[in-house]
Amino acid sequence: MTNEDRVESACRHLLWSLGLDLDDRNFKETPERLAKLLLYWTNPPELDLKCFKEVHDEMIMVRNHEVWGLCPHHMLPVKMTISAAYVPTTHVLGLSKIPRVMDHFARRITLQETAADSIATTLFELVEGSAGAACYIQAEHTCMKARGVRSSADVITSCVRGVFAKKLECRNEFLSFIRR
Ligand SMILES: [Zn+2]
Repeated sequence: MTNEDRVESACRHLLWSLGLDLDDRNFKETPERLAKLLLYWTNPPELDLKCFKEVHDEMIMVRNHEVWGLCPHHMLPVKMTISAAYVPTTHVLGLSKIPRVMDHFARRITLQETAADSIATTLFELVEGSAGAACYIQAEHTCMKARGVRSSADVITSCVRGVFAKKLECRNEFLSFIRR
């Protein structure tokens, strides 16, 4: 039995426990679809941090990349709009790799706080020569909108590492680009 089969069988059992008629044409393939959905959110894309030798010392930023994750408390979708920046010195990260770093840490079952921390820490610690990194996430939590507090408020988290933590002007430059 593969892991996919196990997840599908558990989904079937869950839906059956809820009293749903799995022979009904609308539910017939639901266990399979639900399993696919859960596997999608538990298998985020691999990290790929391919760097190129390049002397550059100005901030590089990717702004407003949208990623959907699930919150660990309710397993409900969270729409995260992510911006991140880093300051290289000797090496730059391939540009398309930055949205992939965001996908890797946010397209999963995670806290928004953890995603921001992991993205900033990775761009600081794992990119060769990185002098610092920052991440800002603005998110809509469906668990807050559709249930519980029923608030349409956004949730904002940010994380700064290296030069962004040490120098206020770096942090302010990053934040000023987000506001534009
Ligand atoms: Zn939640």
